[in-house]
Amino acid sequence: MRVVIIGAGECGVRAAFSLRERGFEGQVTLFGAETSLPYERPPLSKDVTATPKAIRNLDAYLSAGIDLCLGQTVDRILPGARQIIAGGQAHSYDRLLIATGARARQVPTFADCLTLRTAHDAAKIMASLAAGAKVGIIGAGFIGLELAATARRLGADVTVFQNGPQVLARAVPAQIGELVAARHRAEGVALRLDADVVAADRTSVSLAGGVRFAFDTVIAGIGSAPNVELAAEAGLDVANGIVVDGNFRSSAPDVFAAGDCCSFPFQGRRIRLESWKAAQDQGDHAAAAMLGNGATYAKLPWFWSDQYDLTLQVAGLFDPLRAIHSRPAGVDGRIVFQIDDQGQLAAAAGAGPRQDIAKDMKILEKLIEKGAAFEPALISDPSTHLKSLLKAA
Ligand SMILES: Cc1cc2nc3c(=O)[nH]c(=O)nc-3n(C[C@H](O)[C@H](O)[C@H](O)COP(=O)(O)OP(=O)(O)OC[C@H]3O[C@@H](n4cnc5c(N)ncnc54)[C@H](O)[C@@H]3O)c2cc1C
Repeated sequence: MRVVIIGAGECGVRAAFSLRERGFEGQVTLFGAETSLPYERPPLSKDVTATPKAIRNLDAYLSAGIDLCLGQTVDRILPGARQIIAGGQAHSYDRLLIATGARARQVPTFADCLTLRTAHDAAKIMASLAAGAKVGIIGAGFIGLELAATARRLGADVTVFQNGPQVLARAVPAQIGELVAARHRAEGVALRLDADVVAADRTSVSLAGGVRFAFDTVIAGIGSAPNVELAAEAGLDVANGIVVDGNFRSSAPDVFAAGDCCSFPFQGRRIRLESWKAAQDQGDHAAAAMLGNGATYAKLPWFWSDQYDLTLQVAGLFDPLRAIHSRPAGVDGRIVFQIDDQGQLAAAAGAGPRQDIAKDMKILEKLIEKGAAFEPALISDPSTHLKSLLKAA
């Protein structure tokens, strides 16, 4: 049997090694459009050196017998013939995994701004973040705010524009957004909320109403778009990601998709995640599925971010229509959580110094996974030891 994987990122690499760890002895071929050894993306916005950290070293691929085809873009998938085309050559597969990830979202009005997805992008951005440089960042999502923190660490003069009243609005409740925003302001970031950016280029940002700001560098961090074109051209179902079932099977026979490029069923709805841990978990699960394991994927969404010495963690998905409850974490941190209609803990997010957040969030994550039910007041009470709740659950 021959497995072909398109996309040598977090998900594709995990899937390739997982196949071997599960005893698969057939051929594994991993195609990656980028020329560098597959690397971790999270440090790109956080590490001022912009030195890519390899996911695995070259020897690991060699000794696992994984054919690593770097700098090779797959141009077509022919599901009927069970082939892919790369560099004009056809390659057959018995199972195909599409793990093409996502790219930085671009809009024509900001077309000239720098964006961040690859090590190449990071090198360009970091080179422009010198002390005293005036840097404009459009978008107060995770990438924009992590870059703001990194730029401040390098002594740059940073302005962040956000077109709504809250930072990190898509990912966390307002209480956490406010804590993070306050920290950025305290670090000297000019945070312009409710700023309606109508045009921007490499050195300027214009707001509705005509105000124009001049910068040395402008970076747009306005989200990402899944790389679905290959799949769509091959006739696979696509809807905000390549549509897969709970086992990462696409609409074409023996074609799977996982990681940032796919949308999958979760708790009665269809979601797409952009998360390092999900990319790994899904790569692993897709590998098992390609080998015939029929278990449905049920891992809890989990995401983290680091800004200054703040750690931010999110477990589960928040429902914007449901009440948010809160408890302090250490002196400066905060944890918020949601209880669902069944009274079960459904989602939690925390922000603060790592030592105040990481342990409590780990416990809350386990309680969510266990489906534990609580009165919100019990968790909100700072004198309640979360560990004791876990023991009792
Ligand atoms: C700057 C940055 C910081 C991040 N920080 C965090 C964080 O703090 N916490 C967190 O949880 N997540 C973070 N993430 C998200 C996380 O890195 C992604 O969720 C994860 O990398 C997704 O893995 P993936 O394999 O699905 O996609 P990717 O890592 O995007 O890999 C996909 C690969 O497929 C290749 N490819 C695409 N099309 C083709 C083709 N046709 N042929 C061949 N190859 C192709 C691409 O070149 C790419 O190398 C961050 C992402 C970025 C960009």
